[in-house]
Amino acid sequence: MKQKLFELGLTEAVNLVKSGQVRLVEIVEDYLNQIDRVDKKVKAYLTCNFDAALARARQIDSKPEKGKLAGAVLAVKDNIVTRGLRTTCGSKILENFIPPYNATVIERLEAEDAIIIGKTNLDEFAMGGSTENSAFFATRNPWDLDRVPGGSSGGSAAAVAAREAAGALGSDTGGSVRQPAALCGLVGLKPTYGLVSRYGLIAFASSLDQIGTFARNVRDCALLTSIIAGFDRRDSTSADRPVPDFIANLELPLAKKRVGVLAEALLTGVNSEVAANYKAVVRNLQELGFAIERFPFPSWQYALPCYYIIAPSEASSNLARFDGVRYGFRADSRELSEMYVKTRTLGFGSEVKRRILTGTFALSSGYYDAYYARAARARQTIIREFQTAFKQVDFILTPTTPEPAFKRGEKQDPLSMYLEDYFTVTANLAGIPGLSLPSGMTLNGLPIGTQLLGPDFSELELFKLAFLLEKIFNFKNNIDGITTVREEEE
Ligand code: GLN
Repeated sequence: MKQKLFELGLTEAVNLVKSGQVRLVEIVEDYLNQIDRVDKKVKAYLTCNFDAALARARQIDSKPEKGKLAGAVLAVKDNIVTRGLRTTCGSKILENFIPPYNATVIERLEAEDAIIIGKTNLDEFAMGGSTENSAFFATRNPWDLDRVPGGSSGGSAAAVAAREAAGALGSDTGGSVRQPAALCGLVGLKPTYGLVSRYGLIAFASSLDQIGTFARNVRDCALLTSIIAGFDRRDSTSADRPVPDFIANLELPLAKKRVGVLAEALLTGVNSEVAANYKAVVRNLQELGFAIERFPFPSWQYALPCYYIIAPSEASSNLARFDGVRYGFRADSRELSEMYVKTRTLGFGSEVKRRILTGTFALSSGYYDAYYARAARARQTIIREFQTAFKQVDFILTPTTPEPAFKRGEKQDPLSMYLEDYFTVTANLAGIPGLSLPSGMTLNGLPIGTQLLGPDFSELELFKLAFLLEKIFNFKNNIDGITTVREEEE
């Protein structure tokens, strides 16, 4: 039987194309068929780029010298701008926006011959944790179509899990790469703030946003990250420092083996199977000779309220640019201020409006000191606690999410959705890197993720630890399971 090329991992596909064993066009055609077959159900993509993808594949096939990603078929979250390809942010306000330029990450991927096959669904302006807040439709979890894929980069995660792409880009402001990676059984990295250029990422909360990567294994995630990382003069917060070779060093032994785990009290309310999995992971590490240290981490409990003041505050300012004048949708009106109000009333969905309102309130005079300034101080405490912790340990381990993928429509109350981010927002507030790795399954067949945190710019060490753990967990990101769900649906 002919091998299904869409099932190849990213590195495998690249090796086959570069050695001339498979033509890139064949791979792209296989993905087009797979998307045609499954995306009606999964609904990962907002826009497909089929014609351009095929044309580029033919052109790359004819090149004698191919780039490092020739063979990689990728999906990109629809808040990263792509020249000539619609970029909506999952919002009515940008429904027909065609960007005139490429984000730096897109330029870098295409310079290495990657193929961008489509733009993926997200919670509107990346605000949410289930990809149900998209203005267009909700994405489903390929492991169980009645459940959410997580969010806000749920389209990217679902696409990679369902073999509609070999890898993907997302953005992570408070967990939006790591949480959907955990819920879809993938590896997902949120890099250190400044490692990856934000030029061309439509801003949500600029001091927290980072572009991150999804893949079905650690090596693929490291490969993708190595291409997009590195200094960019077009992003003033970009770090001007060399990026280590993640791939060449991946299998080298870890020099440092001290791991911090969260104190029991910080795990109250966590789903019992997730908690049991976390304990099993810690036992695994002990057996491997890691020294385990338990942390009280007093400021962890303040991270969520702190994030939900800082992120909306920055969002309220960033989203002021969507006024009907410069970008996208404009409501009919003969009067200027009425036009602004109508455009924003009709163009934004309710979660985005909630964030703009709370953010504007937290920044307004009279309330600034009580809310924004206090949140900024709490953020400094969190940063300091991480700095102290990373003097004693090399990594901190947590569950990625408090529970596995939840049912669609289950979290109507916004606060219950915000609780999803309990383990992930600390990394964004502190700027440190975080990686989510599949570490097990629930009894009813849903993936569970473990989060590895490290000090600034410790991506290589995180990849090395994840690579080691991946072999032990032996997690099967199994297409058969997914196919069965699909067949039952027929
Ligand atoms: N769920 C968080 C929020 O709604 C995180 C979003 C993100 O990382 N983009 O803000």
